[in-house]
Amino acid sequence: MKIMKKFKISSINYTNPDDVTLYRICAVSSFVTASGDRVSKGEFGGWIEKESNLSQEGNCWVFDDAKVFGDAFVRGDAIVKGNAKVFGSAEIKDNAVISGNADIFGVARIYQNAQVCGLAKVFGSVLIKGNALITGRAKVRGDGVIIGGNAILSGDTETYGSKFQIYESVFFEDAIVKSIDDFFSLGPIDGLSITLFRTANNEIRIGEFATCSYYDFEKFMSLGKMSPLFKEIFQKVYSVFVEYVLQDIFAPCPICRGRVNNDPDASTIHCLHCGCSAPKESWRKIAVLSKKDFMV
Ligand SMILES: [Zn+2]
Repeated sequence: MKIMKKFKISSINYTNPDDVTLYRICAVSSFVTASGDRVSKGEFGGWIEKESNLSQEGNCWVFDDAKVFGDAFVRGDAIVKGNAKVFGSAEIKDNAVISGNADIFGVARIYQNAQVCGLAKVFGSVLIKGNALITGRAKVRGDGVIIGGNAILSGDTETYGSKFQIYESVFFEDAIVKSIDDFFSLGPIDGLSITLFRTANNEIRIGEFATCSYYDFEKFMSLGKMSPLFKEIFQKVYSVFVEYVLQDIFAPCPICRGRVNNDPDASTIHCLHCGCSAPKESWRKIAVLSKKDFMV
């Protein structure tokens, strides 16, 4: 059976800074996307380099100023819109939505109901699926990294490393996720799920729908909105996370909050900013305080 075409490549073109010429697509039949947006026959869409960038099947579409080029392929009912760019060998399918100024490249695959938006970048050998949301300035790269479930990566979160998976976890601020040792997810208990993660400055933060320090979270718990069971489990998980999972991580400089060297062979820790130093045994392991607590 011959597939009925839904778009043609128009003659409206533009050459991007990498010397790739992209063409505006034009709908040759009317249809409604998975998100309920109607595309009418004759309507122009976004930009692609060649016909193989966008499937003629399904209700997938490229809207607005979004660009799909290289060997990238958008299919199924996936949507690319806004100023998003999809290139390299990236594949976007199912009901995935790429929007905002998101960039997807490398061999990244965005499947199912996953969404990538904001200024997020997803590249490398990464699979984003389920209801995962990658937003803010989050950068997801790595080798064999899978993000699914209801995971949220926001803020300046950076994900790299190889062969690990993130499902029900939430990351904000400058979270660093390069292996499963960098975070711990707890719950749902009494309907509450939290993620302990570390930041680029080696602080531990607690993420739920927002993020806070340990002490802020303690205050929140003291409001009595959580069961004693949740509190007890949380305290245990927190101490395990600090003591074992992050055992090679040292707190930022107590004087200037600068980052410290983390040479595993060195016997001392020194601040890369002001140069103060102390033996490893006496340098505090983890900054449990929030940024404002450090101010003097
Ligand atoms: Zn310092």
